[in-house]
Amino acid sequence: MFPYVRAFKLAEGESDNIRRALNTTTGIVRARKEGRYTGPPPKGYKRDRNTSGKSTIVPDESAVLIQEAFEIVSLGLYPIDNIRKILSKKGLKIGRSAFYDLLRNPTYMGFTKVPEFGEEEEYYVPGLHEALISEDLFHQVQAVLKKIGEKSCTPAAKNKQREEYPLRGVVLCPACNRNLTGSPSRSRNGSYYDYYHCQNSCKTRFRADFLHEKLEDYLKSLTIPPEIKELYMAILEDTFKSNEGDRKRQIQGLKDRIKDQEDKIARCDEMLLNKDIDRETHQRMIPKLKEEIAILKKKIELQESSETGFMKYCRFGIPLLSNLSGFYINASVEIKQKLLGSIFPAKLHFRENSYRTTPLNPALALILQKNKVLENEKTGQILFEESLSGGLPMTGLEPAPCCQE
Ligand SMILES: [Zn+2]
Repeated sequence: MFPYVRAFKLAEGESDNIRRALNTTTGIVRARKEGRYTGPPPKGYKRDRNTSGKSTIVPDESAVLIQEAFEIVSLGLYPIDNIRKILSKKGLKIGRSAFYDLLRNPTYMGFTKVPEFGEEEEYYVPGLHEALISEDLFHQVQAVLKKIGEKSCTPAAKNKQREEYPLRGVVLCPACNRNLTGSPSRSRNGSYYDYYHCQNSCKTRFRADFLHEKLEDYLKSLTIPPEIKELYMAILEDTFKSNEGDRKRQIQGLKDRIKDQEDKIARCDEMLLNKDIDRETHQRMIPKLKEEIAILKKKIELQESSETGFMKYCRFGIPLLSNLSGFYINASVEIKQKLLGSIFPAKLHFRENSYRTTPLNPALALILQKNKVLENEKTGQILFEESLSGGLPMTGLEPAPCCQE
C-alpha cells in the first residue's frame, strides 16, 4: 500500500472516532436536556429503569445519610470534616474533598447537569430522578460552604482560638471591663494551670477549669420542660404557617399550568382527528407539551417533598435547646463561641465567684421566663449569683508568662 493511501485510511479511521465520540456526546447532552441522569450514579443513588424502560437513578439505602449530611451542614454549627467522620461511621464512606463535592452537587435537589457543548455553556435542568433534599436546603448548605471558604481565607491571627480557652474574648475583666485572655501559668506548688487573666495591669486571674465548670452548670440549667417544648413548637408553627400558605399557592399554580398543557394536548389530538393539522405537526407539538408537563410535575414534587422550615426548626432547634450543655461541651472552640454569642448577646461578667446578670437572647429569654413561672421561681433572672465556698487563688501567683506555652 502506498504511504499516502495508508495516511488517508488512518485519517478516515480518526474521523470515524471523532464522529462516534460526537454522537455519544450528543446523545448524553440530549438525555441530560430531558432531565435524564446519565453516567455513574452519585452516592445515595443507584441505577434503575423507569416505567418506560429508560435508565434512571433512584435513592438507595444510603440516601438517608446524604439527607442527614445536608441537614447537619446547613446548621453551620459543626466543622464539615467532623460531620463527614460521623457519617462515615454510620456507613457513608467518603473522602474529604469528595464530601465537599457531594455537598455542592445539585443532583441531590433533583437537578441534572447539561454539560458544556459547542457554543452552549453547562447548565442545570429539573431532573426526572427523585430529589433527596429540597432546593432550600441545598442553597442553605451552599451559603454555609461559602462562609467557611471566606473564613479560611482570613489571616491566621483571627483563627488563633485555642481549644483550652473558649471564653477568651467572651468574659470581661471585672476591674477594667476589658476582654480576658487565656494562658497557662504556674501555681504556688509549681504545676501549670490554664488561667484567664486581664491583659491590662489588673491582677484579675481565674482558673480556666473553674470558669468553664460554672458556665457548663449554667447551660445545664437551661433545659426546656415538655410543656414549654410544646408551646415553643406552637409558636413556630404559627410563624411558619404563612410560608406554608405560599408553598400551597405555588403548587396550585403549577397544577393549573399542567392542566393548561394537558388541554393543549387534547386540542392537538382533536385537530389531528379533524385533519386540521397533519401527523407531522402533531408529532412535533406533542413531545414539547409533554416535556413541559414533566418539568412542571417535577417542580411540584420538589415543592411537596421539601421539608418545611417549621419541621427543620423542630428537628434541630428543640434537641439543641434540650441539651445545650451537651452540645457546648462537645463543640469545637469556634462553635462554643458561636453558641455563647447566640445565647448571650453581651459579654459575660464574672465577679465574686459567679457570673453576673447578663441579658439572654430575647427568644431564649422568652422560653426561660416561662420556665421560671412553671418551675416556681426556681430559676432566677440572675445567672449565677450563688457564691462559692473556697474559691480560687487570686493572688500569690507568678505573673502570666505571656509568651510561654
Ligand atoms: Zn482588667
